[in-house]
Amino acid sequence: MNSRTQTQRDPVCGMTVSDSAHTTVYHAVTFHFCSAQCLAHFLEAPALYAGAVRREDVKAMPKSHVLRISTGAALDEACRRLRAMMGVTSVQAEANRLHVDYDLRQVSLSQLEAEIQAAGIVLKGGLHALRRSLWRFTEHNELQNAARSGPQACCNRPPTPR
Ligand SMILES: [Zn+2]
Repeated sequence: MNSRTQTQRDPVCGMTVSDSAHTTVYHAVTFHFCSAQCLAHFLEAPALYAGAVRREDVKAMPKSHVLRISTGAALDEACRRLRAMMGVTSVQAEANRLHVDYDLRQVSLSQLEAEIQAAGIVLKGGLHALRRSLWRFTEHNELQNAARSGPQACCNRPPTPR
């Protein structure tokens, strides 16, 4: 398939990448990513990112959530990890809560939760877990809808490789 070495644009964050370790093939086009995060996010809604010729075609999707913590002492570590993620605009820890602002265009709640877990934090269960699963479900639908209603809605062709 497309085995040429060339610089390409990461369709999720817009960075220029070359010889990336993170690639995937979608509709016979090879896409390159700067990180595992961007690759995972692409795979959640490939039609959205593959269809956008320019990153500006995908509108910002600002999100703000308060995540409640059940157990785990590594709040600083969780904050550090979250702030290092692309698309995260603000993280504030307060008592047993994490206030997180991010752009769904670049990162989703399920990815944030995985990083929080990796820091040794357990988020609250019960009603809060239900609420979080609803947020994740809503985000997934929002990405799918954006893929269908964007300026490229009439055109499912992936961008032409340069
Ligand atoms: Zn990226």
